Amino acid sequence: MQKTFAEIDLNALAHNLGVVKKKTGNINILAVVKANAYGHGAVEISQRLVREGVSYLGTAFTGEAVALRDEGIKAPILVFFDRDHTEECLHYGLTPLIFDFSSAKKFSAAAGKLKRRLSVHIKVDTGMGRLGLTLSEARKEIPRIAALKNIVVEGLMSHFSEADLRDKTFADEQLNAFLSLRKELRRKGVTVKYSHIANSAAVLSMPSAHLDMVRPGIMLYGYGDDGLKPVLSLKSRILMMKKVPAGTFIGYGRTFVTKRKSIIATVPAGYADGYSRRLSNKGEVLIKGKRAPVIGRVCMDTIMVDVTDIPGVDLDSEVALIGSQGKEKITAADIAEKTGTIAYEVLTSVGPRVRRVYK
Ligand SMILES: *Cc1c(COP(=O)(O)O)cnc(C)c1O
Repeated sequence: MQKTFAEIDLNALAHNLGVVKKKTGNINILAVVKANAYGHGAVEISQRLVREGVSYLGTAFTGEAVALRDEGIKAPILVFFDRDHTEECLHYGLTPLIFDFSSAKKFSAAAGKLKRRLSVHIKVDTGMGRLGLTLSEARKEIPRIAALKNIVVEGLMSHFSEADLRDKTFADEQLNAFLSLRKELRRKGVTVKYSHIANSAAVLSMPSAHLDMVRPGIMLYGYGDDGLKPVLSLKSRILMMKKVPAGTFIGYGRTFVTKRKSIIATVPAGYADGYSRRLSNKGEVLIKGKRAPVIGRVCMDTIMVDVTDIPGVDLDSEVALIGSQGKEKITAADIAEKTGTIAYEVLTSVGPRVRRVYK
């Protein structure tokens, strides 16, 4: 068995979902499980979230949703970023997110052939500049989409571009644009079961944006607020330890040279496992509750760490690349800060060959 694994704490996940429920007063939750549930394993995460009462799941692509259906997950699934796969969508009972009239027509025709009506959500671009009908298109097109014979407009949604900022000026503009569109559509007789716009940042800091349903992603996995618990730990064990004299070069490019007699441990996790090469000579791992520096370059499959100052280290010592030991803690956000990215990227980078172990 490979030494490196991701430990996924499903009770931490349930705790984080509890925070969403508390913040939103128990409204509908669409749990975002795209990208293999942000690297945590979409099937196990979805099963637990459904058991804990989420109303909806969200994936990026149809294939991700089909994989969940194949594992027996029956909850409604909204597919964010697809306009094709009409047949799979109908066959697997998925909900497409529509962002133009022509795909709505295509879905309606396909549903009509099966003598069925298909529920869809419609996306409106209120300032993200990504997918969605513009506001003026939305006013014209949504009533036309709602009039299609085999389409039920179940949801109306939009997405914030900077709800994570303390300054909510732009987020408020987006929300107001969304709400006035909703009002206008209601006047035209188009009412939906779910209006939703809130990502994690808005769940945490914009109560007025909660509406009928919220779409948390990152906060379910433990990031975005101090009251949340990180779900994923990345752990390993030492493959080899050796004593070396001062003046020993370590790793590719000889970017590190020991300044003293040292004990160097090689750990079998590298950038192919999601441990960024930007952590070369910069990262730290936890061993025996202490921080050990990553020395030399991060390799594809291994890192070298200096354990000279940590007594009692042996091959059985647990190495935490992400996680906590005693009082020490390294989070995906800490790593993101060192590598110039965000916790989302650190988590979704945990590679496919890393075993996920659920507890
Ligand atoms: C990824 C995504 C979310 C979740 O965003 P977080 O910042 O992780 O909460 C919500 N809605 C859509 C459309 C998304 O693509």
